[in-house]
Amino acid sequence: MRILVVEDDPSVAEALVDAFQDVGWTPTHCSRGDDGLHQIAGADLVVLDLGLPDMDGLDFLRTVRRVSTVPVLVLTARDSDGSVVLGLRAGADDYLVKPVGRAVLLARVHALVRRSRMASAEPRPAERVVTLGELSVDVAARTVHRGGSPVSVTATEFDLLAALIARTGEAVSRDELLLQVWGTPAVGKSRSLDFFVTALRSKLGRDLPLQTVRGYGFRLG
Ligand code: CA
Repeated sequence: MRILVVEDDPSVAEALVDAFQDVGWTPTHCSRGDDGLHQIAGADLVVLDLGLPDMDGLDFLRTVRRVSTVPVLVLTARDSDGSVVLGLRAGADDYLVKPVGRAVLLARVHALVRRSRMASAEPRPAERVVTLGELSVDVAARTVHRGGSPVSVTATEFDLLAALIARTGEAVSRDELLLQVWGTPAVGKSRSLDFFVTALRSKLGRDLPLQTVRGYGFRLG
């Protein structure tokens, strides 16, 4: 996924670029609005700072919206309610106030990508059932079958499995999983994550192609 980062603060830009590279995306960085506008056509998502050296980020956003429906996450130091509303009215899809933690940033970007994919895709009901070896997982009905027989999984086990399925083939960090399943990357939940991963592995066995990514998280498939 190609992410355009429009941000003039070098340390913030570097942190964003690192975070996106670490999860396997392809970030492009521009520190000026006019350079950013030239890169819009190739971007799958834009992370936009509102305070740019050559133009106001809201003007950048209005210009983008005349030509593109690309998802835009506005990232700014302006934290008054007024600027949130202005940003959203100008066409932002989501809004984060600096400083932004890495896990929150990645979770919001993922959510934005999911929403935009859902909005752009034709409904394909067959795709709600995912096959993993002998397993078939119905994401909408929240059921798991192995060789046609139901496998009993708890709500949290299913949430974890669904979070991994949504990102099949990608390394997903522990923080992202904690955030997605429990709504917080809180310290103290880390053992819960290990507990539920172990539970899933023991219930689904070798049919579950779940790998541990050492020092980072997990990858399905
Ligand atoms: Ca700035």
